[in-house]
Amino acid sequence: MLTIENLHVRVAGKDILKGLNLQVNRGEVHAIMGPNGAGKSTLGYVLAGRDGYEITQGRVLFEGQDLTTLEPEARAAAGVFLAFQYPVEIPGVNNTYFLRAALNAQRKARGEPELDSMNFLKLVREKLKVLHLKDELLNRAVNEGFSGGEKKRNEIFQMALLEPRLGILDETDSGLDIDALKMVAEGVNALRSTTRSFVVITHYQRLLDYIVPDVVHVLADGRIVQSGDKDLALKLEEQGYAWIKERRLEGG
Ligand code: ADP
Ligand code: MG
Ligand code: MG
Repeated sequence: MLTIENLHVRVAGKDILKGLNLQVNRGEVHAIMGPNGAGKSTLGYVLAGRDGYEITQGRVLFEGQDLTTLEPEARAAAGVFLAFQYPVEIPGVNNTYFLRAALNAQRKARGEPELDSMNFLKLVREKLKVLHLKDELLNRAVNEGFSGGEKKRNEIFQMALLEPRLGILDETDSGLDIDALKMVAEGVNALRSTTRSFVVITHYQRLLDYIVPDVVHVLADGRIVQSGDKDLALKLEEQGYAWIKERRLEGG
C-alpha cells in the first residue's frame, strides 16, 4: 500500500529525513517511535503534502502511485488521512458543517455525488455508534474550547467519516489521560480492517498497549534505524533511546 524509498526531506534549509525506507502493506498497523526531533512529524507532514517540506531524494508510492505529485486535497481523495498532533481550532464554524464539507470535498474529488444532509446525518449516527461517541461534539465550533481528549476524539471521528485507506496518527496520545487514550485507541481499533492501514507515530509505548501494532520502527536522526514486533516498543520503554544511539555510533 505505502512504499517509501530512500526519502530525503529538507525543511527550512535543514535536512531532516535522510534516507528513510518504509513498507506498509494493506491491513497493517505500523508504529513509528523515536526521540524528540527525530523527524517523526516531518514524515507525517510530507505524506500529507504540507507546504515547506521539500523532497530532495527518494520516492513515496501509495497504491503504486507517486504520492508526492498530488496536492493535499488529491491525497485525501486518494484515501490518505493525517491526524495532527495539534488539531486546529476553527472558531465560529460548526463542527457538523465542517465535517460535511470535508466529506463532500473528498467525494467531489472522487467524482462521487455529494451527500445531502439527511444521508450525511445517517452516516454520522452510524459512525458515532461505532466509536461510542455522544453527539455533543458535533454541535460545537470545530475544536473550539475542546479539551485535549475531545480534540483527539474529534480527529478520530473525522477519520471514521472519511474512511481513509491509510490513516496517519501523529502523537494522537500526547497529553491524553488514560481514559481519553483508551477511547482514541478503541476508535482506531474499530476502524482497523484488512484493507485499511495505519501509521501510528508515538513517543510513548503506552498507546501501543491498546493499539497493538504489527510492526514497530525506530526513527532516529532522519531514518528508520531498527524495526521489530511490538516487543521492540517495550524494550524502548524500558531502556530509552540511548542504546539506539550507541548502536549507531558503533556502526550497528
Ligand atoms: P519529531 O516529530 O520526531 O519530534 P520533527 O519532525 O517535528 O521531529 O522535527 C525534526 C527536526 O526538524 C527538528 O530538529 C525540528 O526542529 C526541525 N523542524 C521541523 N519542522 C521545522 C520547521 N518548519 N522549520 C524548521 N525546523 C523544523
Ligand atoms: Mg516532537
Ligand atoms: Mg512530532
